[in-house]
Amino acid sequence: MSTPPAGIARLLPVTPAGAAMDLRSLSVHEAHFGRLPVVDGPRIGKPGSLVHELEKSGLRGRGGGWFPTARKVHAVVESAAARRAWSAGRKPVVIANAMEGEPASSKDAILLRHNPHLVLDGVTALAATLGAEKAYIAIHRGSPIIDVVTRALADRNDPVTIELVTPPARYVSSEESALSHWIGDGVGTPVFGKRPFERGVNDRPTAVQNAETMAHIGLIARFGGEWFASVGEPTAPGTCLVSVSGVVNSPGVIEVAVGTPVSEIINRCNGFSGESSGFLTGGYGGAWVSQDSLMAAHWSPDSVAAAGGVIGAGILWALDARTCPLHEVARVAHWMAGESAGQCGPCRFGLPSLADDLDVIAGKHAQMSDVHRLNARLPLVQMRGGCKHPDGTARFIGTAMHVFQAEVAHHLRGHCCATTSGTALPIAGMRPSPVGFPGKDFK
Ligand code: SF4
Repeated sequence: MSTPPAGIARLLPVTPAGAAMDLRSLSVHEAHFGRLPVVDGPRIGKPGSLVHELEKSGLRGRGGGWFPTARKVHAVVESAAARRAWSAGRKPVVIANAMEGEPASSKDAILLRHNPHLVLDGVTALAATLGAEKAYIAIHRGSPIIDVVTRALADRNDPVTIELVTPPARYVSSEESALSHWIGDGVGTPVFGKRPFERGVNDRPTAVQNAETMAHIGLIARFGGEWFASVGEPTAPGTCLVSVSGVVNSPGVIEVAVGTPVSEIINRCNGFSGESSGFLTGGYGGAWVSQDSLMAAHWSPDSVAAAGGVIGAGILWALDARTCPLHEVARVAHWMAGESAGQCGPCRFGLPSLADDLDVIAGKHAQMSDVHRLNARLPLVQMRGGCKHPDGTARFIGTAMHVFQAEVAHHLRGHCCATTSGTALPIAGMRPSPVGFPGKDFK
């Protein structure tokens, strides 16, 4: 076993000069991390022994939900055992989710650009411990990372075939049931009532893990769970990647120990470059938090939640105070409405209505009744969709109405604090809303 990485630069190691190491070559990767050890497979309906290290590690998925990885592994194996999947020739499937549907996130792309083999090692290790027959890495169509991963795969000789797939660049196509749906049936829309760990790709038990989670698995397979948990918080051990953007001097992706003070994260980005009106945490399915609350918090699921936010896929955006937050929220709400799969009422009718309400409130002729109407509509879209897309969008809007309540009051008086007509939050190609039923743009 080679020496475990010291410090917190585990996924994105740096050179002595402080630059990100380029580990795209398999030989350089193995010289740095050592070879991936052989990982044993499942026996008598139990996962291979890697699951014990995952339990010790306390690793939680870094794709947004922070669900315990070991529990997901057990769930896939129990589902496979109940259906005699291995003897019936319907072995489990593994998917590395590098879709990065959140426009404000770039952590998976940066990780794969610098360190693709560690992600692929995690896929290989997870596939082995599940006795999987096939594995996939999903990157959204058109991503520049596709070339990097294609070359990395060509260098490898993994015991389980890893296929690169490129689903459409739609927000909801990165949802785990949508990924399984696209790989199995060619349609990247969420599926109701069937969770991938039970019935995923072609109805096989399917383990979907985010690309960053896979990279952590690649390290745990080498260095063990105790080493992994030697940094971070007891309830969320390890390091994590954070996409930091907005009014900071050095925006980018940084790796921190879970539980690092948010103020320290901002310092690592060389401080604020201007005044911020509030933080977006977790992306467009996440939550807004006031600057004072978040700067007093630590970057862990519990601490950020206590401040009113959500880590989600590791997004931290300091909104430029020169822009109108209500215009920004309205613009993103329209985009989120257009990104839905258009299969359920909350997405077909609810999200476009919420976005229209926000347009009115962001204008200069809003009335209190417009705010009341929006607040009354928000709960109507929650817990009623086939996936969490409307819930996340409602949280994004609802927390904005709370954090930016002074700006709402200003608009009700016919004013706006913005000193620029520019926009801040990124969105990709606005789609019309309400959307039609799933069409070819989900294929
Ligand atoms: S809630 Fe929205 S995004 Fe989710 S499945 Fe239904 S229509 Fe699609």
